[in-house]
Amino acid sequence: MPRILITGGAGFLGSHLCDRFIKEGYQVIAMDNLLTGNKENLAHLFPLPEFEYYHHDITKFVHVPGNLDYILHFASPASPIDYLKMPIQTLKVGALGTHNLLGLAKEKKARILVASTSEVYGDPLIHPQPEEYWGNVNPVGPRGVYDEAKRFLEAITMAYHNYHDVETRIIRIFNTYGSRMRTDDGRVLPAFFSQAIRGEGLTVFGDGSQSRSFCYVDDLVEGIYRLLLSDYHLPVNIGNPDEITIIDFAKEVLALVNNPDAHIIHKDLPVDDPKIRQPDISKAKEILGWEPTVTRAEGLRRTYEYFKEVVK
Ligand code: UDP
Repeated sequence: MPRILITGGAGFLGSHLCDRFIKEGYQVIAMDNLLTGNKENLAHLFPLPEFEYYHHDITKFVHVPGNLDYILHFASPASPIDYLKMPIQTLKVGALGTHNLLGLAKEKKARILVASTSEVYGDPLIHPQPEEYWGNVNPVGPRGVYDEAKRFLEAITMAYHNYHDVETRIIRIFNTYGSRMRTDDGRVLPAFFSQAIRGEGLTVFGDGSQSRSFCYVDDLVEGIYRLLLSDYHLPVNIGNPDEITIIDFAKEVLALVNNPDAHIIHKDLPVDDPKIRQPDISKAKEILGWEPTVTRAEGLRRTYEYFKEVVK
């Protein structure tokens, strides 16, 4: 049985990854400090003998007894609201946390896949964004704490690959959604679903003409699985290229939830909010044979089922 460590294992993506690797027959160790994660996301796995949970802050030395074959590094606040509230932790987990895990990977001779982000492209001047684009990031703006931590994560991962021969993989994740997103994490999809279900105003920032491209979580997990098992060490974009403006996205959520009290209101656009975002996924198609299969209509229907249960 291969053994895998998943950091941020109690989070939205981390917990879906735990499910997937359990299903594939792995021994899974989830590690989390529960800063933004939630153990409830893993409750169904705790009874399984092939599952272990370690409460640990990976910015401190990481010790895992026994062998390790793989590491997935998914620990970090990922919502702009969260990382504005926790700027130092965000920088530390991307920098010190990544360093500790690369050291662990070297020690255990494990292959490590690290989670990077479309935020490395900043407010992009090239559209859609291919992996070769170096980005347009403001290091001293409010998003700098996340963007630069993830850019450092990529740089140190490449250094461990080049100088220590560690087997590394880098994924650049674009906006992703699905069950287990925190209803209060401030990201656009949990915000809109919670507001629509409660019959409140959907808070569209600015005029809503900025765009995003939303990927359903199962598609993302499949991309991660394939990238981990591939032999490609340079960054790969994984996301759904189906782009939509935020105002149109609000209208889709309104139509789906169909609550007569829900409506659209406008709030100020946050500083440095990227105006456009769409992954160029040519590389994922070519190298991994991967592309998304779940349409936004279907993904939103499935996600609504989750939010209906959890929004109070
Ligand atoms: N957004 C919005 N209302 C909200 C939350 C977000 O209009 O209540 C917008 C935000 O300005 C951005 C987009 O939705 O343009 C996506 O924001 P999110 O925080 O989900 O993630 P980002 O892609 O900016 O990292």
